[in-house]
Amino acid sequence: MYVQDRASARSEYLASRPISEDNLVPEDPALGLVAFSSPFDPQPSLRLQDGCIVELDGKAQADFDMLDEFIARHGIDVSVAEEAMATATVDFARMIVDPGVPRSEVTRLASGMTPAKIAATLALLTPVEILQAMQKMRVRRTPSIQAHVTNRVDHPLLIAADAASAVALGFRELETTVPVLRHAPSNALALLIGSQVGQPGALTQCSVEERTELELGMRGLTTYAETVSVYGTEQVFVDGDDTPWSKAFLASCYASRGLKMRFTSGSGAEVLMGASEGKSMLYLEARCIALTRAAGAQGVQNGGIDGVNVTASVPDGMREVIAENLCVMLHDLESCSGNDTLMSASDIRRTAHTFPLLLAGTDFLFSGFGSVPAYDNAFGPSNMNAEDLDDYLVVQRDWGFEGGLRWRDDADLVAVRRRAAEACRAVFEALGLAEFSDEDVDACVRAHGSLDVPALPPELPEVASERVMDAGLTALDAVGALHERGYELEAERVLEMIRQRLLGDVLQTSAILNEDLQVLSSLTDPNDYAGPGTGYRMAPDRRNEVARVRNVWSAADLALEQTRSEGCVLLRDNGPALRGERADEVVIGLSPAFGRDIWVALNGMTVAEVLRAVLAGVEAEGLAARLIRVRRSIDLGSIGSTAARLSGSGLSVGLQAKGTALIHRADLPPLANLELLSIAPRITPELYRQLGCNAARYAKGLVPEPLLLPESSEPLGPRYHARVVALVATERRLAENADPIELGAAWPT
Ligand code: CA
Repeated sequence: MYVQDRASARSEYLASRPISEDNLVPEDPALGLVAFSSPFDPQPSLRLQDGCIVELDGKAQADFDMLDEFIARHGIDVSVAEEAMATATVDFARMIVDPGVPRSEVTRLASGMTPAKIAATLALLTPVEILQAMQKMRVRRTPSIQAHVTNRVDHPLLIAADAASAVALGFRELETTVPVLRHAPSNALALLIGSQVGQPGALTQCSVEERTELELGMRGLTTYAETVSVYGTEQVFVDGDDTPWSKAFLASCYASRGLKMRFTSGSGAEVLMGASEGKSMLYLEARCIALTRAAGAQGVQNGGIDGVNVTASVPDGMREVIAENLCVMLHDLESCSGNDTLMSASDIRRTAHTFPLLLAGTDFLFSGFGSVPAYDNAFGPSNMNAEDLDDYLVVQRDWGFEGGLRWRDDADLVAVRRRAAEACRAVFEALGLAEFSDEDVDACVRAHGSLDVPALPPELPEVASERVMDAGLTALDAVGALHERGYELEAERVLEMIRQRLLGDVLQTSAILNEDLQVLSSLTDPNDYAGPGTGYRMAPDRRNEVARVRNVWSAADLALEQTRSEGCVLLRDNGPALRGERADEVVIGLSPAFGRDIWVALNGMTVAEVLRAVLAGVEAEGLAARLIRVRRSIDLGSIGSTAARLSGSGLSVGLQAKGTALIHRADLPPLANLELLSIAPRITPELYRQLGCNAARYAKGLVPEPLLLPESSEPLGPRYHARVVALVATERRLAENADPIELGAAWPT
């Protein structure tokens, strides 16, 4: 018998990876820990009597709970219900995915289906089928994106500046919340002001307790609402002292004042509250969405919102999350799709959660991208935050999906941040809410987050908020203050947001205002995807915008980088290179552009430093070195081989201008070598010197220890390959069909 082995080093290593911090669970339907198709889910059924639903998903009317009652009375179109329920589930699943079936035909049938029928349909779809369906089924043709704009201390000027940044980056809905409920009015006002600097028309909201949120909306301090939560079982409604009717009433309150609003649901919530009734997460979410439709709300924020970590802990959890989003689209509602809660300690896993949706496109790709640092996100860290912005922009560029964002030069961002912080300060002062110093403004303009700004008096947000509430201030007061302090443009834009509420066009399903203040919605911008060549495509201008990110290096940028070291070595043409007679020489063969148009190697050394290091190594072994330039080839083997055949000792060093180097010997075929330093960015000055030494030792008939590059798993290709292309093109341009020449080197000081 073997003694039981200890764990392997590989296993111990893997157990230390971030993914091992994620807590995963086996399926347990009794606790509701099942994504699709719980054994306790009802079979789909519907029975009509005199045009009235008397049986819903296996339950007779007498047994309806309040969700069943609400959905049966308001959420199902009885005129298509019998046809819809008679459609085979697999046939309906295929209609959803097939680009040849019009979107309107799918929504028509879905309007007559019960939650269990829709949940059973979605359970049949693979992830790629769900994504293919989303391309067709999302309401709005043009995807958009929502930001979280918050900070730890509820600093109004920082909120205003961050709102302006978010709008400059492309976000069209901005959402704030508060660690302390009493701070909400101050945050909402700062967000409203900042959101209208730079570009007009972004919608803003302040996610707080329902009464306060409604009041802020009534006063015009917010322009949409989102956090009206609904749940998939009766018990959770009862616990919250709520009913579907009270939620519907709240929805109509917002509509009555021209405020866009959507409900929030999302799987996992019922499980967390111990009230899942053993049903699958998707079935409960299908009930929430049916209820939302029944209440007349235009959209849903879902996709495992606060409960996403519960959903993510079970098998198929992430497929369930995107199925939830598709379920919203089937009901012809705006999908504001999750991605707001950080769902893993693993960067790979959190990216895997978000990425499929980005490719497919939804009305809002994020129901809250953290536009601020994760530590400042008062909702809790988002699945992506300000730290991830450049990654997001480059991935958007790589794949060419509409991710809603654009890169902005820092100077542009600083300018809008300053305008926003100053406008916010002016309004807070004019309305007698709070005073700020120039230092406060400066710090907020430049800040990455709240850790970079002077401490805010802790009572400031609360006092400012009390004054807003006590004085009955509204958005019109903000307009007046902006006007009085010389912020005419911002005054007009805030006023326009009030005017839009009177027009009411933002109440259309899935409405946003674009930067030209046009309403994009189900009516004005309907999704017309019907297969390849249809649906949303990036316009050329937008594609160019997406292509601009931080690290794009043009040929001109790279040429500039080279010219900074121009003239670091002067290489004189001394005529045709001849075969040497001395057995104690090593010939150094240089590439066509070495010290002509290329002056800096990939490791950052100048070509002069590279050459001097090699020469120093040869000299240290007491041998002579002679320089030639190979003009006919840019291939390092060929350069080394040519130099070796001209060398009295038969030994050479070949050097490309980008820094790649080798040792060659006259009797070897051109493509062979004695030693090769192929990864130019990782060659150190000392390695170049040792390469010179070793070439000289071979010339003396010794067998030196071969050189090794330092170990590294750093990915060099992404960092250097674009530069290599430019450098190789330069070598190619200077190559000519001519024999090698002898060079003399001079070293300007
Ligand atoms: Ca949100």
